[in-house]
Amino acid sequence: MAESIEKKKARARTLIRALERAYPDAKIALEFSTPLELLVATILAAQCTDERVNQVTRTLFKKYTSAGAYAKAELATFEREVHSTGFYKAKTRAVIGMAKELVAKHGGTVPRTLEELTALPGVGRKTANVVLGNAYGQPAIAVDTHVFRVSQRLGVAKSDDPEKVHDQLCEVIPQPKWTQFSHLLTTHGRRQCMARKPACPTCPVRALCPWPGKSLK
Ligand code: SF4
Repeated sequence: MAESIEKKKARARTLIRALERAYPDAKIALEFSTPLELLVATILAAQCTDERVNQVTRTLFKKYTSAGAYAKAELATFEREVHSTGFYKAKTRAVIGMAKELVAKHGGTVPRTLEELTALPGVGRKTANVVLGNAYGQPAIAVDTHVFRVSQRLGVAKSDDPEKVHDQLCEVIPQPKWTQFSHLLTTHGRRQCMARKPACPTCPVRALCPWPGKSLK
């Protein structure tokens, strides 16, 4: 019999408590000090590790300190500066295009709504939710690859479409926990519930996990 929404919500609350105990240090791994820095770092983090992005942005953020500075960046120079994050041509176009739009439509300030953020070139729903949740303190679930995989193994969402997973999680997870829930699942996905070989025997939420593929050793 399918789990009722109320039972799923109760299980999700228990899961969150267990994950909070297991990962009291769970937080965003990207380094930033302004919403603009987080927006740029999140665009650069596509298909790249947060560690690599942090290495690049430590230099980048000293040079480009406003949306206007990114908007005026020289294409080939910027491509070189972000080269090591991969997909550097597309990321350069995205960052410069996004910055031009910020200057043209928002006075150089990063907007505070999902609609305005996702209207910027190169900014999808995940990126927008990272910014809203971590730079603006608005509850937001960012469905990265770990949240997508782990939430399904834990049976709190089910879909091939990250947007549907996002909407299902918003129904089940208490709103004040949305941002932290993303960090908990990302941390759990990196340290325990890895894509290829999850470490199920030592998993702190093993008893709450309904995934039929969980391993015994
Ligand atoms: S039991 Fe295994 S599959 Fe389930 S959450 Fe833990 S590590 Fe992931």
